[in-house]
Amino acid sequence: MQRVLNVANRLPVTIGSTIKKSSGGLVAALEGVSNNHFELQSIGWPGPVDDTAKISELKQTLESDYGCIPVFLPDELIQGYYHGLSNSSLWPLLHYNRAYMNYSDSDWAAYCQVNELFADAILEIANDDDIVWVHDYHLFLLPSLLRKHKPHLKIGFFLHTPFPSSEVIRCHPQREALIRGVLGADLIGFHTFGYLRHFRSSALQLLGLESDMTEIQIGNHTASLGIFPIGINSASFEHELRTTDYQNTLAAFQQNWAGKRLVLSVERLDYSKGLLRRLSAIETFLAGTQNRDDVVFVFVSVPTRGEVKEYQLLRERIEREVGRINGLYASVQNSPIHFIHQSIPFTELCALYSMADVGLVTPLVDGMNLVAKEYLACQDDADPGVLVLSEFAGAAQELVNAIIVNPYNKVEVANAIDHALNMSLEERQQRMGYMKSRVMQYNADYWARSFIDELMQSNQLHNKPRNLLDDEQMITQALINHSNVAFFLDYDGTLREFEDKPDDAFPTAELHALLQQLNKAPIDVYIISGRSGETLQEWLGDYDFTLIAEHGNRYLAPGADAWVSLNPDNDFSWKEAVREVFSLYEGSTPGSSIEDKQSSVVWHYRLSDPVYGGWKANQLLSDMYSMLGNLPVEIHHGKRIVEASSMHVNKGRAVEYFMRRNDYDAVMCAGDDQTDEAMFRRPSSDNIVSIKVGEGDTQAANRVPDVKQFHLLLQRLTQLLKKKHNSNKAAEL
Ligand code: UDP
Repeated sequence: MQRVLNVANRLPVTIGSTIKKSSGGLVAALEGVSNNHFELQSIGWPGPVDDTAKISELKQTLESDYGCIPVFLPDELIQGYYHGLSNSSLWPLLHYNRAYMNYSDSDWAAYCQVNELFADAILEIANDDDIVWVHDYHLFLLPSLLRKHKPHLKIGFFLHTPFPSSEVIRCHPQREALIRGVLGADLIGFHTFGYLRHFRSSALQLLGLESDMTEIQIGNHTASLGIFPIGINSASFEHELRTTDYQNTLAAFQQNWAGKRLVLSVERLDYSKGLLRRLSAIETFLAGTQNRDDVVFVFVSVPTRGEVKEYQLLRERIEREVGRINGLYASVQNSPIHFIHQSIPFTELCALYSMADVGLVTPLVDGMNLVAKEYLACQDDADPGVLVLSEFAGAAQELVNAIIVNPYNKVEVANAIDHALNMSLEERQQRMGYMKSRVMQYNADYWARSFIDELMQSNQLHNKPRNLLDDEQMITQALINHSNVAFFLDYDGTLREFEDKPDDAFPTAELHALLQQLNKAPIDVYIISGRSGETLQEWLGDYDFTLIAEHGNRYLAPGADAWVSLNPDNDFSWKEAVREVFSLYEGSTPGSSIEDKQSSVVWHYRLSDPVYGGWKANQLLSDMYSMLGNLPVEIHHGKRIVEASSMHVNKGRAVEYFMRRNDYDAVMCAGDDQTDEAMFRRPSSDNIVSIKVGEGDTQAANRVPDVKQFHLLLQRLTQLLKKKHNSNKAAEL
């Protein structure tokens, strides 16, 4: 049976004087899955442990009796990781609440450390054929940490909260690291298409990663995206509703509230649940109804995160409001709001769901909202209640027959309560039928199985150039066993990471150290770039390298004073007309600029909004195609640039020229973008090694994921070449 390592912040057990199974949505959701289809092993934090001397004994019991692998967290990390970074900075932002975000670097350090501790615990037991399923925002960094150490592990990630607009998540000081962390997964699951869409756009806006509807390419890795709306453990409700305990509880409640209409809200006391706005809508309803003594609003508000200041203040405000509204609208017969600030037993919860005439679920934002589905599961088909549901709950995407409301509009919510209380039996049955059967069919078991099935099918390395780092030895053999070797190296995106402003991408000290090593190696080095000759000379003129500027337009030999043209034609009269069109786009696209080179004109939109910039670039391309006619100009759309250059100039021709002139035995060409493809589009040969740096389609035979890895590869290659050279020399002597 397939083993699934199921990783969540908390284990599905709680340690007190004894070990007890925890309640909670995720635990319930996964309960039905484990026995039937997969061998499920849980990994997570078991909660604080008072007696640290008992840790190893506990570990053993949890493993043998409960199938749980505990990750014990030191007390000093829990505050920063859990209450701090997770619940005080990520939770508010994921729920669109910028004002409540509290971030500190020490919380971040704790969060990173805990993610590392989780990675260590998993790596200790994971086999290559295991599936690792990581849950939720506490562990955003975990997929990439695992991928780094075990590249072939199947890793899934599911986000149980919403994913907000990129405009909101970008407020987080560590937004790039967080998104990059998740992207280590093979499959990333969300409850709704809206969350998926926001995640994609954040990857684009914050990391510059282009994506398809359901795939994001990052380096050599593809992360698939999917929609998996979580369901409830329907079997546990079916079972509970058949028990005598439940029947007795229901009868007692019915007697207690005889003659009343019940409107029920159940939730953790969290600002995302919209309690204050709901109270305001209830007040509007009470003010406008004749029958206020007949209706009771029951609030089950489960205490949560009492350590966080915002939650304490919220509780105080809610209690004040409940008191005020009850004071205003209570009579001798009735008090309209029955506020329970505690968790209630499952049997009582089912009885409440079942007898409530209206389920009032009005969060301001909610990943899914299981309460809405649980309410439906407990309805009697003969005389069902009515669900009033916020359009901002993920569940609203599925439960389309509920009365859908905007929780910010108190009049609309008040009217919906009235409508629900007065709905005919026929309409109630009609609305309920479809929703209830959906909730019972697409339950937690279905959710987990469909996620894991899709994860098992996701096939990473399909049709991609091989990862050079996997079989480097083969490649190095092709290069080091020859004496006349040349490296043709692109600069931006290959030797040096991109910067927002091209002028800022000068060589770093680390790059200079690498270039010095290359300079001493027994090879000819060519820096072949789209940059101007002046820039290349200023930055790299001190090395014994041949500098090839403007995509192969001209070159400067080592030690020479003058640049030599490689362009047989030298007619650049077309540039004037091109520049005129480009300047129209520069004017209408904020953040874009024009760069004028000797043999080309470039329109840069790296600093523009990537979606708008991309759209304008496509317009520019079509303008250019219709304008150019027979002119000797080539247009290309590169990484956030559109470039018009002489047709007679490209990097492939330049490489060809030097290969013919110097008759090299072996050559390496490395580059990262479209202009480098001209070097890669050469007849394949054992002695030509082509390397694409980074993501994207390519004709290169090999790939390294990023500039950093390329540097490391160059270091290893130059050392090997030097060694070989020295041993050859020694042999000659
Ligand atoms: N719940 C509970 N104890 C209670 C009341 C409710 O454990 O006293 C459960 C409820 O049955 C549901 C969960 O809490 O499964 C709430 O899940 P939901 O998705 O609605 O909201 P979340 O708390 O995950 O934001």
